[in-house]
Amino acid sequence: VAIIGGGIGGLTAGVALRQAGVDAHVYERAPAIEPIGAGLCLWPNGARVLNALGLGARTPGISASLNRVQYRDPAGHLLSDISLLPLYDALGDHAYPVSRGDLQALLLEHLGPEHVTLAVECVGIEETGAGGVAVFTDGRRVGADVIVGADGIRSLVRRHVLGAEIELRYHYTCWVGLVSATEALNPHATFTFHIGGAQRCGMLPVARGRLYFFFDAPLTPDVQDREPVLNELLGEVFDGWSDSVQSLISAADPATTVRLLVQDFDPLPTFVSGTVALLGDAAHAMTPTLGQGALQAMEDAIVLARHLTTGASIEDALRGYDAERRARTAPVVLAARARTAALISTADPVASDAWYQELTTSGNDRFVDRLIQLVEEGPL
Ligand SMILES: Cc1cc2nc3c(=O)[nH]c(=O)nc-3n(C[C@H](O)[C@H](O)[C@H](O)COP(=O)(O)OP(=O)(O)OC[C@H]3O[C@@H](n4cnc5c(N)ncnc54)[C@H](O)[C@@H]3O)c2cc1C
Repeated sequence: VAIIGGGIGGLTAGVALRQAGVDAHVYERAPAIEPIGAGLCLWPNGARVLNALGLGARTPGISASLNRVQYRDPAGHLLSDISLLPLYDALGDHAYPVSRGDLQALLLEHLGPEHVTLAVECVGIEETGAGGVAVFTDGRRVGADVIVGADGIRSLVRRHVLGAEIELRYHYTCWVGLVSATEALNPHATFTFHIGGAQRCGMLPVARGRLYFFFDAPLTPDVQDREPVLNELLGEVFDGWSDSVQSLISAADPATTVRLLVQDFDPLPTFVSGTVALLGDAAHAMTPTLGQGALQAMEDAIVLARHLTTGASIEDALRGYDAERRARTAPVVLAARARTAALISTADPVASDAWYQELTTSGNDRFVDRLIQLVEEGPL
């Protein structure tokens, strides 16, 4: 199996396939495996993938503790204080907040760097009837029984699978980064969302005393053309927000804070063409409001490895993968999009008021119940 793309999806696929006895190799265009973005929360469906890959014992070592989720209004008043302990009790698995760099390093080490070729950009896919050939900028041609497009939201492999370009939908602009964690910024073991006025600021502790943060705002996508000094811009956009948000804006380092455009696309009619399959954002990029994009990519990897090792023909195995993963991911894409529309991109005041109201009244149960359902509907 030739895997195009060495992000979280491609690396997890490499590990899952090799562990299942499949000869798999990752081809990544960047000169090094480096994170796009800063952190993420491995909710229990992500933790289960790492467990299945034999990495369960190593996960706490790359993670910080996480016991609570808090929502606060812009002034800093607590809207909802949600204990995650009922979630952990119900599922028997924890949530692990991690930096992307740490997660990718763990996956790369487990995969073995010898199974990754860096600095090679795939520029074409040819199907030969008995597998396919991936063509790279340096002229190299790699033949494989299966080609996996784990090449992200702007996937070249997807163009081959669908025979057409698709339209990406822009939702909002986001700045992400890491700062040193302090109690003044964010309480210990707590994922805090400061929310209001179609904007969000999130803070999540990750390993080695760091805090992953994100600022979300429905600015026009050309904001970079008007961007003054980052901290000034964030100061304007989050003017009047609480002391901890202001302290975070001062602490954010413009040199390492990354601006990302949050985009998704409608669920695809297929993830597969012949012996070529899509995985991760290439197949189902979603907005981050449910925190599931990378986790769904990791689930894809496990399911792909399962289907390819049942003894079925490759075409049948990929058809099974396609059906299972489209059914799983399409509702998550649409639910994330609906939450994004309510809270950030169009900020439907009725939907967002209803959601904030729900948080203050029944936050704990609803939040935990929804997460349990999301995990239990998954493959592990
Ligand atoms: C602001 C933000 C916050 C997010 N927060 C969360 C979260 O909390 N939890 C969560 O689960 N998800 C989150 N996500 C989603 C998550 O980041 C993605 O779903 C995940 O990274 C997708 O992984 P991937 O491997 O499919 O794609 P990518 O990470 O995009 O990796 C694709 C790789 O393919 C390589 N590549 C591309 N084209 C080629 C080519 N032609 N040849 C060779 N290599 C190529 C790229 O260099 C890249 O390394 C967030 C996303 C955003 C934007």
